[in-house]
This record gives sequence, C-alpha cells and structure tokens, in this order.
Amino acid sequence: MIPIFANSAGIRVSEKLVLQGGCWTSLNLKTRYGVVVHPTHGPVLIDSGYGPSVTEGRARSLALKAYARMTGPALVPDGAPDVVLRRLGYSCDAVRTIVLTHFHADHVAGLSLFPNSRIMACRTTFDAIQARSEIANLRHGIFKELLPGDLTDRIVDVAGLKDVQAPLRLGPGKDLLGDGSLLAIDLPGHAEGHFGLCFARLEKPLLYAVDVQWVLKAVVDQRLPGFPANLVATDAEAGKMSAKRVAQFRAKGGDVVLCHDPEQTPYDLPETSNA
Ligand SMILES: [Zn+2]
Repeated sequence: MIPIFANSAGIRVSEKLVLQGGCWTSLNLKTRYGVVVHPTHGPVLIDSGYGPSVTEGRARSLALKAYARMTGPALVPDGAPDVVLRRLGYSCDAVRTIVLTHFHADHVAGLSLFPNSRIMACRTTFDAIQARSEIANLRHGIFKELLPGDLTDRIVDVAGLKDVQAPLRLGPGKDLLGDGSLLAIDLPGHAEGHFGLCFARLEKPLLYAVDVQWVLKAVVDQRLPGFPANLVATDAEAGKMSAKRVAQFRAKGGDVVLCHDPEQTPYDLPETSNA
C-alpha cells in the first residue's frame, strides 16, 4: 500500500522564512495531499489540499480573502483532487474515507468535492472549532467557512481507535484502517490535533509528517522549528518535541515526507503531468 502524493498549489517563499539559518534563496513550496488505495477501503484521501474555495469566489469572508492574498498559493491546474483521482482511475464518489491531519485551510479546501466521505480527524479539535468565534478560529489559522456544514455527522474520531505500535520505535499510533497498515501518529505543536501518518508495512516505513517542519532539510539536519514557524504554532515547545521525534524516526532508517517540501519525492506524481 504505497501512497501517492499530489501537489495542489505552489507557494513562493524565501528559504530564510521556513528554515532556521536558511538563506534568502526563493523556494517554490508544494502543498501536498495524498491518495492511498486500500484493498477493502478503496481509495483513501489524505487531506484535500488547497483549492479555489480559498483563492476565488465573492462569497469568501474578508479574512479568507486576506489570508489567500498573504499566503499567495498558485493552484496547480491538474493538481486538484478530482483531476488527480480521475487520472488514477477513480471518481470522487469512490472515496469513502478521508484522513484529515488537521484543519488548516490548505488541508480542508477540497473537502466539498467529497460530500459522502467519512472524515477521520480529531473530534476534540473539531468541537473546539465549532464552539469558537470566527476571530478566535482565525488566530488558529482556521476558517469555518471551508468546512462542510454536515461535518459533525461525518467525523470519525481518531482518538477512539485502537493503538498499534509503529515501526522504528516511533511509538503508538491509531490504527486508521483496522489492519495496522496506516497509523495516525500524534505530532502536536503545529496545530491543534495535528497528526502524521505512518505507512507501517512498507519495506522502508514511511512517516508523512505533514507540517511538523516546512522543508526536509530541517529534518535531515535536525534543525528545530524556530521563527516564524513558532508564530503560527499552537504550542512551539510541543512542536520541537514532534520535530525531534520525526528526525529520530528518519535517523533509524525511516522515510519522511512533508506537506510543503519543494523537492520531488519518489511518492509524488510526476511534475510534468501534474504541473
Ligand atoms: Zn498546517
């Protein structure tokens, strides 16, 4: 069960902003989401990337318009989940399960394409989002307007699933698909309820560490997240512990993929047909 990652949008930033001790070189960050095809669950989506619900449309709130201007994602035309799924031979209706690693805009923007999927996510975080004002959510980088209105009935709480030990001493993870192949690994700090995904059965176990770090170089060099990542983190100290845990997993022989690293990975759909 090898995951495939697609790039929904490019974000141009200076390396200095995303890597402690980086230089002023401009990077074109990716915004990944994934698809994994399970023998019984079928195609499972991992987050849903950026989409036009963030960058277009008059109905957006002023805050969302400002966020889109500030982050400046350039949507990849062939990188939308429906296009990518079609390329892989599936319709959006075939996706019965979406794993949502956290509720930031660049992970939830495509959810509206999948009105019938169950969403595996952190229920406590979702309930907190529902209970807060728009302004309070804004401080967490969350826009309720991007979340489907019936999400409350479709969420499966990851916290309620069985614990399974992940390989390479990564620790326990929640068994998302019931067979130990895909484990949700608690990686707190970046956002409330943020978790990574361990593909435990691969010959070289893979950890999709999502937004623990912006670029893989920070994991490889074991540089801890600093300014300005700490500004957006909900818990900077927890984020450092999570970054260490990911670095240790890699040092023990595991593979690591991040949401935003600019380099192509062996798990990415080829850029030529995805750009
Ligand atoms: Zn995030």
